[in-house]
Amino acid sequence: MDGPLTAAILIVSTTAAQVPSSDASASALRDVFQNDGAGKWDEPLVRVVSDDTIQIQRQLMAWTDGPNPINFIVTTGGTGFAVADVTPEAVRPLLHKEAPGLVHGMLAASLAVTPFAVMSRPVAGVRHKSIIVTLPGSPKGATENLQSIIKMLPHACQQAAGANSRALHKGGVKELESQAGIGASRDQPQGDRPQQHHRHGGHGHDHSHGHNHGHGHGHGHGHGSLVRHTNPNIAPLSNDPQLGPTRRHRESPFPMLQVDDALALITQHTPEPKIVTAKVDEHIVGSVLAEDVQARENVPAFRASIVDGYAVVVPADGNIKGVFPVAGVSHASPGEIAPLKEGQIARITTGAPLPPGATSVIMVEDTILKSMTDDGKEEKEVEIYAENVKEGENVREVGSDIKLGSAILSKGDHVSGVGGEIGLMAAVGVTEAKVYQKPVVGILSTGDEIVNYDRPGDLRLGEVRDTNRITLLSAARHWGFPVVDLGIAKDQSSSLEETLRDGLRSIDVLVTTGGVSMGELDLLKPTIERSLGGTIHFGRVAMKPGKPTTFATVQVKDNDGERVTKTIFSLPGNPASALVAFHVFVLPSLQQQSGAGAPGLPKVPVMAAHDFSLDSRLEFHRAVVSVGRDGKLSASSTGGQRSSKVGSLKSANALLRIPSGKGETLKKGSTIEAWMMSDIHC
Ligand code: AMP
Ligand code: MG
Repeated sequence: MDGPLTAAILIVSTTAAQVPSSDASASALRDVFQNDGAGKWDEPLVRVVSDDTIQIQRQLMAWTDGPNPINFIVTTGGTGFAVADVTPEAVRPLLHKEAPGLVHGMLAASLAVTPFAVMSRPVAGVRHKSIIVTLPGSPKGATENLQSIIKMLPHACQQAAGANSRALHKGGVKELESQAGIGASRDQPQGDRPQQHHRHGGHGHDHSHGHNHGHGHGHGHGHGSLVRHTNPNIAPLSNDPQLGPTRRHRESPFPMLQVDDALALITQHTPEPKIVTAKVDEHIVGSVLAEDVQARENVPAFRASIVDGYAVVVPADGNIKGVFPVAGVSHASPGEIAPLKEGQIARITTGAPLPPGATSVIMVEDTILKSMTDDGKEEKEVEIYAENVKEGENVREVGSDIKLGSAILSKGDHVSGVGGEIGLMAAVGVTEAKVYQKPVVGILSTGDEIVNYDRPGDLRLGEVRDTNRITLLSAARHWGFPVVDLGIAKDQSSSLEETLRDGLRSIDVLVTTGGVSMGELDLLKPTIERSLGGTIHFGRVAMKPGKPTTFATVQVKDNDGERVTKTIFSLPGNPASALVAFHVFVLPSLQQQSGAGAPGLPKVPVMAAHDFSLDSRLEFHRAVVSVGRDGKLSASSTGGQRSSKVGSLKSANALLRIPSGKGETLKKGSTIEAWMMSDIHC
């Protein structure tokens, strides 16, 4: 990694959020980056939030989940035992990997200064490509903690950002220590670590006052008595489903991503396609080739006649007028053919091989029958009228359509259902080809209220027929992907976890619907993160419908015991939202995983057939695109667009990407982008 590393400081303090001038930690920590950072750090960004789980998580995720993640983020404050102290609880669920070494390092440094360091509850770890460390709230404690780890961090940040670890480690620990500007502790017991100066400096008194590890509000209360700032009955919010509805987040902590940013994350985290050898038969249709394909044979494989007529041996002057004996016949059928000599001709049909020695073919139209055999069934002599006949006339030479060894198809070509590509492979004797394996898609509905769509009898109060599973199974199959029906899971962490685990064993891409809103039974996100150890790449998108669409990856062992990445798309439960989200987000990932170069629905500009009123979010409006009398494409709404309205997708062939703009109108006749889901109506 070149250039300086990026850093950010998150001040977690309700006081500082109200009175920014009350914060002293930001400038103290900035100084550490500058003075102790060995010139490796950019000027850190600074933000202030209250002691509020959502605010903390939002800001951290804004720094870690975007396209340019911050390398190293420190929070300061909220790590103590006061009721309002929620920083570790806010940070821990965001971490994809914990880093207890950093925690121990900081605690050891603080303990060397004061035994009250036990009152701090730091956490540290990695989210995506960023390292996050919680520091105590007092400027002094925060400074010392950061000083104790900062020298080691450039290396860790480079690794977290994806640098090649082998290259980083090739010089061994000694090399790392010298790069970090530190001597090994075993060689230099006093090192240059700040806490050791303190230990020997004997400033114990100073620390017992200055270290406000517990409270994190910059009040400097010391450790003697804990000060409670909030009502003890208020417990921190958590995404742990065990804690029940009173402790759930009251707003989604996931940052609201723009559709294009969400799509970029999908592109980034979709696994590489697998390559398999496939037989060239109708099942290969829809696959993408993973190799260039060469002709295994010449086409034609023999010199063939282009017309019905007579094979001749043309003399040098090209003049072949006269009466000739018909020496033989060549039909388009395999077998031996007698050679032809000058002065003889042989009857030949279209596509039949030329007799050895023949140079050209004269069309039957340029000849007259002169005499027949005695039984009247065969031609005996034929008169030819042709002048200036060239060698090779009316002959398809060997390999003149396709040469043996020439490239007929390229890696990345799509074997279409139109037939051109499969025909080409069939013509040149290619019977198998390497293709990208299509991912197997598992579809799971969730919800205690959901019943099989074909369950006989009337619905009881609260029951809902499972619309999404059959719809998405059909849609995935329509786009050419093998599907597995995973049934309906109950809204219970344990059964959901089991169903997800089972599903992940047999499929490559898991698509679930329901359970991603803000209800206490909406368990998908916590189950993916907490039980499956998955990584949620986004959990909210600025679009209508489909806002809670969630995209995650999990690592699982495949049948050979190798760790592989599988993708999970958790779509909203409302049927229209689920189907729109499938086309917008799942389809491009499936296509990418099967090697297709231009993922997603085809996009074409169309004309609005009527006014459309804009929403505050980008809208994917279900519409019918048809060719008007003027030959132009125009789009009309399918009507009511409420997310629960399945009917809004009936006969829809397109999603119109209508920009956001609350209170505004997109006028009839304006150009809009249509994402085509099926054929254009004519
Ligand atoms: P949820 O996201 O689970 O809160 O679901 C949102 C809405 O979609 C609720 O009204 C659900 O009953 C409904 N819903 C969820 N799954 C399905 C499904 N498979 N078929 C039809 N409606 C569903
Ligand atoms: Mg539900």
